[in-house]
Amino acid sequence: MKDKYLVVNCGSSSLKFSLYEMPSEAIIAKGYIEKIGLDDSFWTISYRDEKITGAKKLDNHKAAAEVMIQELISNNIIRKMNEIKGVGHRVLHGGEIYSDSVLIDDKVLQDIIDMTNLGPLHHPGEIDGIKAMQASLPNTSQIAVFDTAFHQTMPEVSYIYAVPYEWYTKYKVRKYGFHGTSHKYITSEMQKKLQKEDVNLIICHVGSGASITCVKEGKSYDTSMGLTPLDGLVMGTRSGRIDPSIIKFMADEAHMSLDEIMNELNKNSGLKGICGKNDFRDVMALIKDGNKQATLALQIFIDSIIKHIGEYYFDLDGRVDAIVFTAGILENNTAIRETIINRISSPLGIYINKLSNDNIGYGHDLKEGIITTDNSKIPVYVIPTDEEVMIVRDTYKIINETE
Ligand code: ADP
Repeated sequence: MKDKYLVVNCGSSSLKFSLYEMPSEAIIAKGYIEKIGLDDSFWTISYRDEKITGAKKLDNHKAAAEVMIQELISNNIIRKMNEIKGVGHRVLHGGEIYSDSVLIDDKVLQDIIDMTNLGPLHHPGEIDGIKAMQASLPNTSQIAVFDTAFHQTMPEVSYIYAVPYEWYTKYKVRKYGFHGTSHKYITSEMQKKLQKEDVNLIICHVGSGASITCVKEGKSYDTSMGLTPLDGLVMGTRSGRIDPSIIKFMADEAHMSLDEIMNELNKNSGLKGICGKNDFRDVMALIKDGNKQATLALQIFIDSIIKHIGEYYFDLDGRVDAIVFTAGILENNTAIRETIINRISSPLGIYINKLSNDNIGYGHDLKEGIITTDNSKIPVYVIPTDEEVMIVRDTYKIINETE
């Protein structure tokens, strides 16, 4: 029998899971349990061509994990719990302790609990998810895959902020970077495509969350997110890079608390802050209707992407093997890809291949490919990211290495 592995991604009120057959990486089933902790919790599971749905109040992640296992068994997706050989958990923050995925034991779980100050929005749900899966599958190995791990190769010059050094030594204030699982996946795909390990890449992961990573010789050298995912690019609802003095200024002028300001910067800024919409498709629809705020939001959004590409081009001394576009917006929207390439075309000597660009993404024939012309100095690739497959690969590898 083929081994089955689960990937679990817990939010504060959700549990997303994918069941894989390994080592083939074939997806057996995918599910999403939502509104955990509320009266109207519900779930949807895709299995073969079926959609399995259900609803009942789920008090916590433990109840959600039990529903997941129950549905997997009652729908004959698995026959017994012990068919699941391993569980991989997405964990936001590994701090400076974890530079790779790891088998979860008591110490690792305690470390994740202790790092809740670094990931206050994510860690509580993730910790609940780990404990719930440990309770439901007590004999199954559980692996933590950290979103920060890939970036632990960054040199000091990238991760130290120019603030009192004690903030780093005493409080661990530094750049950690996020979307590491996605950037690692894209790096490994590009290593295969370019047939070399020491690739130099500029990876633009632009979805509702967005970050750009500079990969030097196959390793993360710098990235746009910081201590938290708020820094760097303009995002759907996050401001990205701003003058930190704005925080005190708004506290004084608008009599807002620190929590209120941070909430505004995380939830009501970015595209949403400027034009009221955070989903990129809605922003494009507003632009089509001639909405000036949406046009401005798009300009600022694109500008922030271009500035980061420029920074990393210099970090790599211009020796860039490829620029990669990935995640919801750049995988699908042909117009924004074309605009970005046209904006960097003359300084970088790269030219859009319209035919190929227009054929990649949602509603088009292809999902990936090169979207620049052959005479471009640097090729630009579109590659769909797959964080889940990266998690299951690490989970499979660690479990099979430790046995
Ligand atoms: P996250 O994983 O951070 O939630 P995604 O990578 O799923 O984000 O990206 C979500 C973003 O991608 C949204 O802004 C959405 O509008 C955009 N997006 C998804 N599909 C399309 C599409 N077909 N065309 C344009 N934008 C899209």
